[in-house]
Amino acid sequence: MESTLYLEIVTPDKVVLSLPVDYVGVPGAEGEFGVLPNHIPMLSALAVGHLYFRTEGNTHHVFIAGGFAEISENKISILAESAERSEDIDVSRAEKSKQRAEARIHAKSADTLNEKIDEARARSSLNRAIQRIQISKMSH
Ligand code: ATP
Repeated sequence: MESTLYLEIVTPDKVVLSLPVDYVGVPGAEGEFGVLPNHIPMLSALAVGHLYFRTEGNTHHVFIAGGFAEISENKISILAESAERSEDIDVSRAEKSKQRAEARIHAKSADTLNEKIDEARARSSLNRAIQRIQISKMSH
């Protein structure tokens, strides 16, 4: 029985990775789930956060933002708005994004009627930045 699981992560810009893996930990919209070879076919919405996979005895970490995971025929396809391997995360960019988001949230709390500040958008941006910073520190 064919039992090699392939992982592919695709964004609107590019194929981020495509390789055989032993295991994938996926941040599903309703909680993390694990995928081993011969998993049942499945479609799941994704959260913003940490995906990891094991291959050749090593664990690798990836930031993903939203999208879907599709599992079929020993292939897991992740279709995400954005995705970066931990080693490709630009930490200073994430730090700046975090500071911008925090400044917007702070300005909104000081001026709650300011319609120019979209607080939900700032909070989403802050969450992406915090997750990127955390994932960049994971071994790769
Ligand atoms: P920023 O405020 O820095 O633009 P963002 O969270 O709004 O961050 P996204 O909309 O998630 O950015 O991503 C836009 C594009 O930039 C995607 O291709 C994403 O992979 C890339 N990107 C964003 N932040 C980083 C980062 N810190 N390191 C590497 N690539 C990044």
